[in-house]
Amino acid sequence: MAEKPVLFIVIPCYNEQEALPITAGRLTALTDDMIAREIIDPASRIVLVNDGSRDDTWKVIADLHAADPRFEGVKLAHNVGHMNALWAGMTLSAERCDCVITIDADLQDDVNAMYGFLEEYQKGADVVYGVRSSRRTDTVFKRTTAQGFYKLMGKLGVNMVYNHADYRLLSRRALQALLSFGEVNMFLRGMVPMLGFNTAKVYYERGERVAGESKYPLKKMIAFAMEGITSLSNKPIRYVLLLGALCALLGLVMAVYVIVSLARGKTVAGWASLMMSIWLLGGLQLMALGLIGEYVGKIYMETKRRPKFILEEHLK
Ligand code: UDP
Ligand code: MG
Repeated sequence: MAEKPVLFIVIPCYNEQEALPITAGRLTALTDDMIAREIIDPASRIVLVNDGSRDDTWKVIADLHAADPRFEGVKLAHNVGHMNALWAGMTLSAERCDCVITIDADLQDDVNAMYGFLEEYQKGADVVYGVRSSRRTDTVFKRTTAQGFYKLMGKLGVNMVYNHADYRLLSRRALQALLSFGEVNMFLRGMVPMLGFNTAKVYYERGERVAGESKYPLKKMIAFAMEGITSLSNKPIRYVLLLGALCALLGLVMAVYVIVSLARGKTVAGWASLMMSIWLLGGLQLMALGLIGEYVGKIYMETKRRPKFILEEHLK
């Protein structure tokens, strides 16, 4: 571990012209203080990733960079979304830093938690999660949907840190391990816990956006949740298989009922054969779909080219 780590703070920015000047000011003060107190190396940087903004975000970033070389600007050719913007920033930082912290441009996450992050890093943590101790400033809607989402993901077998968004510190080796994941469909919150290593949590209160408005309207939130589920879990496919098996089973019960009714002569012509085919065939079809889905799911996971292991130490 470096005495004073070179810290790169990576910030995705999409239409953040209102928030950025405030954010930049706060981060300048914060990193000034950290450098003065010898918590971080003066070579530390703040990497602002412009995710294809349609406002003057890039101009703001370019001005910040011109005024203070501590600010780096990364301009993506078009809007690729929060996750990919983070990925871009992390990729461009990996070779030059000891650790990286990702945080949103709106500073809803308390920047002072970074002191805690770095303390944990110095104590040997490779992954430090920023966890919201309360969601008082979120709307009731956002809070309930978000919490429901975490619960659902847990049920689907995805290991996620409760109330942790994308505010986290990664040591260089954790970052490199993360970047070795080959998947295009990615959901960082679900991937980071797969890394292993020493982890720690730092709690903080989540505030309001400093300026501008949320870049996550309901439509994007739903897409985000779908991405999380489908990029990490094959379980929905298994439920289809299960449902198919259940239908086929019900078909058997129906078969008994149909045969009994037939024997008692209580049926119209054609009813018995129709009933049997609907239930049995329907169930079998669903089962077949689920089974094919299992293989498709396997192929899907295979195409992600995830590392089979992540090395932490090798004594030789
Ligand atoms: N963001 C981005 N690309 C997008 C949408 C959002 O880089 O397509 C960034 C945005 O600038 C912010 C972060 O992702 O830094 C989180 O967005 P926001 O704060 O609007 O989300 P919320 O806190 O409302 O969930
Ligand atoms: Mg926000």
